[in-house]
Amino acid sequence: MHASSGSVLVVHGGAYDIPLESHEAHVAGCRDGVEAGWAVLTSGGSALAAVEAAVRVLEENPTFDAGRGSFLNAAAQVELDAIIMDGRDLNVGAVAAVQHVAHPVTLARLLLTESEHAMLAGAGAELFAREHGLPICAPEELLTGRELERWKAAHATGKPQAWEPWGAQPHPSDTVGAVALDAAGNLAAATSTGGTFNKHPGRVGDSPLVGCGAYADNRTAAVSATGEGEALMKVVISKLVCDFIAQGMNAQEAGEAAIQILAERTPGEGGVIVLDRRGQIGIAHNTPYIAHAYVTSSGEIVTGIQAPASNRNQRSDDGL
Ligand code: ASP
Repeated sequence: MHASSGSVLVVHGGAYDIPLESHEAHVAGCRDGVEAGWAVLTSGGSALAAVEAAVRVLEENPTFDAGRGSFLNAAAQVELDAIIMDGRDLNVGAVAAVQHVAHPVTLARLLLTESEHAMLAGAGAELFAREHGLPICAPEELLTGRELERWKAAHATGKPQAWEPWGAQPHPSDTVGAVALDAAGNLAAATSTGGTFNKHPGRVGDSPLVGCGAYADNRTAAVSATGEGEALMKVVISKLVCDFIAQGMNAQEAGEAAIQILAERTPGEGGVIVLDRRGQIGIAHNTPYIAHAYVTSSGEIVTGIQAPASNRNQRSDDGL
């Protein structure tokens, strides 16, 4: 792969206490996602197209809580949230609680380009998908045996554990996201999720909320977040990162400052990937792990499960 004049791409595959046996799958999935987005950037595609392509691959991978393989809600249904944002003009497309769309990030992008609305939910979002010829899928296509078993085991107790936003038990958080800078200097961000396990039907997390699950502004940065949605939305974490960058912080400092606010003001945990307008990368989290991958300016793919300190505070054109 060749470097694409200043292009940078970062993806994440969730931030939590990712079990050791699942590290490899998370890292491999992030690599696949970053490769798909990078192929778009190197063939002259936009940052917006790149983040969509990366997230689509992550949605297809059942390792993650997005698209196929998503957690089930309390009614044993998959309900998906997604957002995509264009840093050129702050245009945003977001969908919430959709059940029959395999690639909610694509539905979100369709909304961004084809509608005067910024966000659609539930049946209305699916109607929009139908109106624009997006494939509608059967619920089984998004369902995996692993998630059905997880749901059955929880409900077999007769008292299924309601997910507590900041309960004592750590909970999985396999949401996916991507941020990109293209050769034209434009930023974009996208995030996609099945939300939290056993959530109340209709629950919408931070992921599709502008400034929470993602934000992109060519003047500052592109950010995608993951973690405890009820906490992340309270501090509007992705916009918070961009505001810190506007104040002069670098990408890593801004990510860490926002996570610090999250920790101080809520009991929640999460992580962010950050890409500023100069191509500087930040990866910050107060969870044990954050699965991620990025491409350096030389085209080398770097993957990880925890942001290594040695990768911090460096510009992408320094080779990271
Ligand atoms: N933030 C997502 C939500 O609360 C979950 C996650 O990041 O995994 O819906």
